[in-house]
Amino acid sequence: MKRILTGDRPTGKLHIGHYFGSLQTRVKLQNSGEYEPFIEIADVQALTDNFNNPEKVRKNVREVAKDYLSVGIDPEKTTIFVQSMIPEIAELTVFYSNLVTIARLERNPTVKTEIAQKKDLFGESVTYGFLGYPVSQAADITAFEGEIIPVGEDQEPLIEQCREIVRKFNSIYGEGILKEPKAELSKSARIKGLDGNDKMGKSLGNAIYLSDSDDEITKKVMSAVTDPNRIRKDDIGNPDICMVYYYHKLFSNEEACKKCHKECMAGERGCVACKKELSNNIIEFLKPIKEKRAYYDAHPEEVDRILREGTEKARKVAKETMKKVKEAMMLNYFE
Ligand code: ATP
Ligand code: MG
Repeated sequence: MKRILTGDRPTGKLHIGHYFGSLQTRVKLQNSGEYEPFIEIADVQALTDNFNNPEKVRKNVREVAKDYLSVGIDPEKTTIFVQSMIPEIAELTVFYSNLVTIARLERNPTVKTEIAQKKDLFGESVTYGFLGYPVSQAADITAFEGEIIPVGEDQEPLIEQCREIVRKFNSIYGEGILKEPKAELSKSARIKGLDGNDKMGKSLGNAIYLSDSDDEITKKVMSAVTDPNRIRKDDIGNPDICMVYYYHKLFSNEEACKKCHKECMAGERGCVACKKELSNNIIEFLKPIKEKRAYYDAHPEEVDRILREGTEKARKVAKETMKKVKEAMMLNYFE
């Protein structure tokens, strides 16, 4: 069975953008029974731009694990593991670092964009670790012989970088030793923020988290950006520039969306009522997810067991890869 590798950096809880952007697809792929999925909680990668905040990373490892379990990632079908507990990934990163130039990393479009966004942290000069995170990601993928990597467009250059490293490795140390992964581009759109930002994001302060309370959801929806020209309830509105309507399309049924669009354009719908309807639908949508989460909140030992067992299973696979790699690199001196 083909292995799928995905993961997240535990820098915060996961939000609705993650749900529609990746979690939903992971659950579907998992339940198709056609693949062997691995999910990495990438704490080492999270440290590349959070090295000064280890508490945040530590705490969010378990939060992200609970997010996975609550949306339907099934530990019987998907191996969930913690990156730092697999030392083979760190070893591979060192070996691969000889196979990629600094200039190539600096040209990587994903890295370039991120460095520009992190000026506050890095100033004029980026760390060796952050610049090199695509190398460590190549180690993540190849350690588990990941063949299919579902990604958003923004992540595609990272997979290309991994493919280059694999080809270089194989050409020097032996054809077929490492498996070359394929990016599977996600068709799902990027979810916008309630504030009208092009993207919902943890660091943008515009996210609805899968674990938000009903009150938090209502409060966030009430602050959503609507048509600025609409001041009174009976003003004619333009739903196509309204974030509330945008979210209705994600969470409300077709009939409700049509009704919302029509009434807004006719000035027959107040924004407050419209927001109330939306927040109720989001609350309803998240209800089963939150129920599952409540179970794991009450059973932290079970979350730890799942992470421990997943990590043990992942480690076995990574050790097999490492054996092949060390043989090929003539680093197998003694048992
Ligand atoms: P940060 O603000 O710290 O960058 P984030 O909310 O963007 O956090 P990431 O951890 O950077 O979250 O996201 C990892 C991946 O999750 C992205 O590469 C993307 O595939 C997916 N993702 C994040 N936000 C969205 C979104 N709004 N819509 C769709 N997918 C998203
Ligand atoms: Mg991001």
